[in-house]
Amino acid sequence: MSAADTTASVAARHAPALLDWYDRNRRRLPWRAEPGETPDPYRVWLSEVMLQQTTVQTVAGYFADFLRRWPRVEDLAAAPLDDVLAAWAGLGYYARARNLHKCALAVASLHNGQFPQTEDGLRALPGIGDYTAAAIAAIAFGRPAAVMDGNVERVISRLFAVEEPLPAAKPRLKHLTTALTPQQRPGDYAQAMMDLGATLCSPRRPACGLCPVRGHCAAWAAGTAERYPLKAAKPEKPTRHGVCHVLMRKDGAMLLRRRPESGLLGGMLEFPGTGWTDTPPTPEEIAAAAPAKADWRDLAGGIRHTFTHFHLHLGIRVASVNLGDPKLGRWVTPDQLGSVALPTLFAKVAKRLLKSGGG
Ligand code: SF4
Repeated sequence: MSAADTTASVAARHAPALLDWYDRNRRRLPWRAEPGETPDPYRVWLSEVMLQQTTVQTVAGYFADFLRRWPRVEDLAAAPLDDVLAAWAGLGYYARARNLHKCALAVASLHNGQFPQTEDGLRALPGIGDYTAAAIAAIAFGRPAAVMDGNVERVISRLFAVEEPLPAAKPRLKHLTTALTPQQRPGDYAQAMMDLGATLCSPRRPACGLCPVRGHCAAWAAGTAERYPLKAAKPEKPTRHGVCHVLMRKDGAMLLRRRPESGLLGGMLEFPGTGWTDTPPTPEEIAAAAPAKADWRDLAGGIRHTFTHFHLHLGIRVASVNLGDPKLGRWVTPDQLGSVALPTLFAKVAKRLLKSGGG
């Protein structure tokens, strides 16, 4: 039997067994349409953007908050970007929030508030890549798109015992997913694959005994499920170094400024500081990055934070002033910190400082 025959015979059995299981075991999620309901493309898009790199549990609260504040894509488009960034604070990967806003503007102004229905049309919008385009096309519009996320990659690599390691295996996994995706109920199929990966076909100790597709799972037959997906060794994350300055007014307000629009944490607020480099900044670089002349002192230890591609060690310097010059930036009191667009990294700095008694 050729590989194509094997794929075809798996495809014939796979979708019916999986959809039958999904009908009985589907996860109820706030953004999902209930059986018989028509999916709302705005909810599907919003949840898929939020779910990138973020867990279902974390997203649930943010999703409810966004929908309450901006029930339609036109409402989100009309919101000031600052409000969207502030509501997004804590979800990380802030470029997503900026693109979310840009995308809402494009849908509202160029498409009359209606999301395009094809993968190509969706991909042309800001912040929508292959995965999100396929997910919206399948779930919101019933198109037979191959929806590949980490969960689906794991399930497919186990079903076919794919020996090629990720990420090089991605095109083959996509090809296999396309072959398995049915013309009928492709949106439910995509969500069923996500659910299978998120529940039974877990990275460790998959519950194969309960799995509806084990009858055609090559890894289960070989007793090697946990071996897949194979992954190429990752290079170790480098550590970068920087120093930030917290200038405090007598009433406890702290000086923040806005980061440049492009780049990491673009458009978010920050404590003014040096760049983040492979070697610790020199005393001259630190002094040059201070927002004002003041009696600066180091807060012992600084903080450590991990981004996707590097660790950051950030030193903290603190100084007090009687009156805060508004020309220096934005002065924010501790009780306002939760409502401004402050990334997790700098929220950690503020917390560390307040814990130390405000410097
Ligand atoms: Fe995953 Fe096990 Fe099901 Fe195979 S049988 S798809 S490894 S849960």
